[in-house]
Amino acid sequence: MNGLQNIPSVDEVLSNALIKGYLEEYNREFIVTLIRKAIDELRKEMLSQKLDNSLTRPQLAKLLLEKIERLVEVKTAGTLSKVINGTGVILHTNMGRAPLPKPAIDYMVEMASNYNNLELDLLQGERGSRYSHVEQLLIDITGAEAALVVNNNAAAVMLGLNTLANAKEVIVSRGQLVEIGGAFRIPEVMKLSGARLVEVGTTNKTYLKDFEEAINEETGLLFMAHTSNYKIIGFTEEVKVEELVKLGRTNNLPVMYDLGSGILCDLSKEGLDDEPTVQQCVAAGADIITFSGDKLLGGPQAGIIIGKKEYIEAMKKNQLTRALRVDKLTIAALEGTLIEYLSGKPQENIPVLAMLSIKNDKLHSKAQELLNLLKIELKDNLKVSRIDLVAVEDMVGGGAYPTYYIPGYGVEIKFQGINLEEMAKRLRINTPALVGRLQDDSMLLSVRTLLDGDVEQIPNLINRALG
Ligand SMILES: *Cc1c(COP(=O)(O)O)cnc(C)c1O
Repeated sequence: MNGLQNIPSVDEVLSNALIKGYLEEYNREFIVTLIRKAIDELRKEMLSQKLDNSLTRPQLAKLLLEKIERLVEVKTAGTLSKVINGTGVILHTNMGRAPLPKPAIDYMVEMASNYNNLELDLLQGERGSRYSHVEQLLIDITGAEAALVVNNNAAAVMLGLNTLANAKEVIVSRGQLVEIGGAFRIPEVMKLSGARLVEVGTTNKTYLKDFEEAINEETGLLFMAHTSNYKIIGFTEEVKVEELVKLGRTNNLPVMYDLGSGILCDLSKEGLDDEPTVQQCVAAGADIITFSGDKLLGGPQAGIIIGKKEYIEAMKKNQLTRALRVDKLTIAALEGTLIEYLSGKPQENIPVLAMLSIKNDKLHSKAQELLNLLKIELKDNLKVSRIDLVAVEDMVGGGAYPTYYIPGYGVEIKFQGINLEEMAKRLRINTPALVGRLQDDSMLLSVRTLLDGDVEQIPNLINRALG
């Protein structure tokens, strides 16, 4: 075990030129902690015989420096990394949902790098409201009376329930007691908000009379949730917004609709026509509508609440709003994205919508381009047995349109002499990471969700992972 004595001490390491350089760039305590960690690792490797005990002092010093270098690199890099999405799932919650439109990013950077009028009324020279910023834009686009933006749609639902129905009963159809990924469950959110859930109807059928019969003096709200991530098909019946609104009016009760994704423009040409747009829900009379900023809207994470002025005003006064408030970056990114809806070409300018509405021949030529580049890069690689252009089925994702498959194109790669799971892992830990779909014994890369520059990068990433 005399090899252990040859491991340099912390003081010795600190006098090394590379480490001295680090000390100028980084906090001393941080570097010393990493040196200790590296020494500890080296010691453990020697004790477990993973490292040869006869290594000389200079050899060990070199290994130690390499370890420290790697630790500094990892610790100072940040944990978020770019991922190339080859899954064909447009809104992937695990991959950060919607990539933002370029003008929204520029606007956000401008506001992030300067002071701004977040809560300053420039005209009056007085304190202003951060909620004033996106409100008019949302009103103009949706036709609602008022709007409010909070941290995410879960927060929007929570705030709406707490403001309108704290300690009161909220009537919901059993067919709409949804759970969204990441443990958002309507019944749980309802409990936390202080509202009491009253379930009516059955899983597959709920009628207006079920709501009608459940109304009493304790009732505070009629609630609908879009069943974003599942579909009940077959022998089914759900109450229409218009009908519920009419019932609400008769009984002096507001109707709240959790729309989930929230579509702001007509996507029927893209085949997405069985879901109402936000504007249609406003026109149908829903008093409060909530939806996400980073699903089909194509913006940043946010919860958008639109509806009748009296209810929105009550929500703004709720103390909970302070805890759910959005920061300037969200406001800027959301405004920047919403402005694209005024352009008349949201399908071209908002990445999520562009990916959804891209023409099939464009996808085909993109797949052809990827295929060609892959064939050139991997032509002599014995670990690749086949590369083909294939038709694929893409998805909207993000808990929207669960049963809707969008025909697209991609490239299928078959490997040999390497385990597919192992290959997928190597591609994930590459920089940037590449995530594809594993299908039977091959890897599928759908081109729909590849962004600018991705196609050119992929061949080299695969080659590196194979090596
Ligand atoms: C996605 C979704 C939510 C949660 O929205 P977040 O913005 O992720 O908080 C709530 N309700 C429905 C119906 C949804 O689809």
